[in-house]
Amino acid sequence: MSIASNLKLITSSIPSNVTLVAVSKTKTNADILIAHNAGQIIFGENKVQELEKKHKELPSDIQWHMIGHLQTNKVKYIAPFVSLIHAIDSIKLLKEINKRAKQNNRTIDCLLQVHIAEEATKFGFRINEIEKVIERSKEFKNIKIVGIMAMATFTDNAKQINKEFASINELFESIRTKDINTLSIGMSNDYKLAIDNGSNMIRVGSAIFGNRN
Ligand SMILES: *Cc1c(COP(=O)(O)O)cnc(C)c1O
Repeated sequence: MSIASNLKLITSSIPSNVTLVAVSKTKTNADILIAHNAGQIIFGENKVQELEKKHKELPSDIQWHMIGHLQTNKVKYIAPFVSLIHAIDSIKLLKEINKRAKQNNRTIDCLLQVHIAEEATKFGFRINEIEKVIERSKEFKNIKIVGIMAMATFTDNAKQINKEFASINELFESIRTKDINTLSIGMSNDYKLAIDNGSNMIRVGSAIFGNRN
């Protein structure tokens, strides 16, 4: 199937309150332009250098999301333009984003990454730390916490993934406000399950662009 028809299939099958982030990491500008011409405006990347390059080269109406692990020393490169940072996993990182946002005279929207997976390698805060972090972040005037994100365990056990999504949805409902209104869970293989568990932002790559090398 083509990129445009994959996109159409997904956007027409998800509820209207769910935002689709087209994950374009490793994909060419040509592929991104096909998706953009088909109406997609929000794209997600997980590497700062690649994100910066694509932002320079591609249409300026694209809203770029940083979805991967972000190192503090690289925040300055994306601070001028990034529209949402998904994977905040430390106060130190929030502090740096606040500093760089201020230098650029803007406020940057951020999601706190929550560790729900079984793997020890996945980044993020623990569920019971989130309220404290939200409280703490109020001192940073140039960032806005707009929700939480998570990645499920890398498994094809749907029951396990469902359990993890349900636990983050429960957290989301408990912290939800007018401003904290985004739950970013769900990728190509599990976005339907994520939507069933309250997701309103899905990050889909291979189901749109095909497999990555
Ligand atoms: C790569 C990636 C995705 C998309 O993965 P697909 O399985 O290709 O849909 C989503 N979220 C994050 C954080 C990623 O790194």
